[in-house]
Amino acid sequence: MLFIALMQAMFLAPTGRSIPYSEFKSMVRTGQIAEVTVGETVIRGVLKRADGNPAFTTSRIDDPKLIEDLEAQNVRYTGEASARWLSEILGWVVPMLLIIGFWMFFLRRMGGAEGGVMSFAKSKAKIYAEDDVKVSFADVAGVDEAEDELREIVEFLKNPGKYTTLGGRIPKGVLLVGPPGTGKTLLARAVDGEAKVPFFSLSGSEFVEMFVGVGAARVRDLFKQAEAKAPCIVFIDELDALGKVRGHGPMGSHEEREQTLNQLLAEMDGFDTRKAVIIMAATNRPEVLDPALLRPGRFDRQVLVDKPDVNGREAVLSIHVKNVKLGPDVQLRTLAARTAGFAGADLANLVNEAALLAARRDKKAVDMADFEEAIDRLIAGLEKKRVMSTKEREIVAYHESGHAIVASILPGTDPVHKISIVQRGFGALGYTMQLPLEDRYLLQELDLHHQLAILLAGRAAEEIALGKISTGAQNDLMRASDIARSMVAEWGMSEKVGPVSHDAGRTSRFLDTGMPAQRGAYSEETARTIDEETKRIVSAAQTEARRILTDERDLLERVTRRLLEKEVMDGDDLREMMGIVVPDAPPAADEGPSPEPVA
Ligand code: ADP
Ligand code: MG
Ligand code: ZN
Repeated sequence: MLFIALMQAMFLAPTGRSIPYSEFKSMVRTGQIAEVTVGETVIRGVLKRADGNPAFTTSRIDDPKLIEDLEAQNVRYTGEASARWLSEILGWVVPMLLIIGFWMFFLRRMGGAEGGVMSFAKSKAKIYAEDDVKVSFADVAGVDEAEDELREIVEFLKNPGKYTTLGGRIPKGVLLVGPPGTGKTLLARAVDGEAKVPFFSLSGSEFVEMFVGVGAARVRDLFKQAEAKAPCIVFIDELDALGKVRGHGPMGSHEEREQTLNQLLAEMDGFDTRKAVIIMAATNRPEVLDPALLRPGRFDRQVLVDKPDVNGREAVLSIHVKNVKLGPDVQLRTLAARTAGFAGADLANLVNEAALLAARRDKKAVDMADFEEAIDRLIAGLEKKRVMSTKEREIVAYHESGHAIVASILPGTDPVHKISIVQRGFGALGYTMQLPLEDRYLLQELDLHHQLAILLAGRAAEEIALGKISTGAQNDLMRASDIARSMVAEWGMSEKVGPVSHDAGRTSRFLDTGMPAQRGAYSEETARTIDEETKRIVSAAQTEARRILTDERDLLERVTRRLLEKEVMDGDDLREMMGIVVPDAPPAADEGPSPEPVA
């Protein structure tokens, strides 16, 4: 700018004083002027008189008579066009060049930064080269089932040909589901570390932008890159940020997110399954995900990454104390027993807190007292996350033992697969899982009565062993009441009400509208009878559960003790304690346990 100003001052600035045109005109007429140069916009001239500065300028006015006047006075005059190119260059070409220069400079600067203005649509995935990742399965503990599933994935990636030659299809998507801090992200990185393939890692929220269409473009770009690099892994952390159910919210739809999700669904369908690209994703809120994401061909494998049990916690602790100097009195087993309900991240944090405490006290090594204090601190902080107290664990253990024992004793019920008092992330404090031996489409009346007894057994066990009942049976009661009510009002299983269906067909089977089932059209009296009959059936089931558990009081105690000690028991363990002959091998594990464990 300074340069331009200077140039203009030197070459273009009119020299001499500036005078009004009228004065110039009168000076012409009175013959004071020696010569003039008529420019396009200015007229420069020199006066005849020699004192002072003879040069002057004036603005040119359209004045056809001027030439006549000049000729009359014999003034030398010339036109001026020669300096135009210079003035043009200086006037706008140079500033223009400067602006373009600046612009390019900034663009390049911004383009160099991550993302860049011009690469909106580029996916921001960080790519880890094969040997960047140092995490392996050895760094993950306490989630053995998830680990086994993922080992299989690694096998696919290392050796895709082996599976596809037989016509098999490599799974496309694996969804890691579990409470926060249980090691989902860690597992994904371990898969990468083991498989030694390129790993695209990004978080769901990175797709979500202010501008509609950008997210979708990023998804496209990501898949293009991934396909070029196959075999590889694409890992989308916190999938719920973009995979939420479409178009339901009270605030209307979220156009951009929906487009992004649609694009993701389309890409997952569209790409070549023979190319070994595996999409992994992690979420701790599977319930908000769009169902379309979970159907086969997309995230067809779901891996539950749950909070670790006692043995798992011990293993996680031993991983994290590797770089910590431990005192001789530290017993990881004891620590693991005291940290029921802690997730992997909480345990890592515990080790760190203990180390910090020890350092603050200038100790040479971290000893048990530091760990104990760290646990107390963390539990106080975790209060909101509901870490169970000893008392609560006992209640839950009795409750689950009750379910399990009644389920094993009643004939014709599905065998117990697993009992656990490890808190699950999704609300239940413990659960008893039964594994069906075969698919069932029909239930006989007796099966239903047995199912009710099993549901009510948790509560009965608490009552028998502790003399009190807790709030923990709410879900059991709800399910029991539902079943009993259906027996009475839909399936005609009550003598009093008779073989009449009252409520059936009023709920939509496939669309969960969240609306309560409409009441059928029947009289107040029938309604009362239905209520009475429902209550009678549930009460009968409760009596049955109580009877069984009172008979087996001793067994209830033993199972509960075992459960408190081990936290998780499998069905064979239980049957062994009960002296029951183990039935034929349960069906292959991938049949999946019954979807709704008794909590
Ligand atoms: P998530 O993604 O499930 O919320 P992360 O994988 O981010 O949890 O876990 C956070 C940290 O907690 C990990 O980096 C690791 O140090 C520790 N951690 C969590 N789970 C485990 C585990 N099962 N074994 C070992 N360390 C774990
Ligand atoms: Mg995570
Ligand atoms: Zn229960």
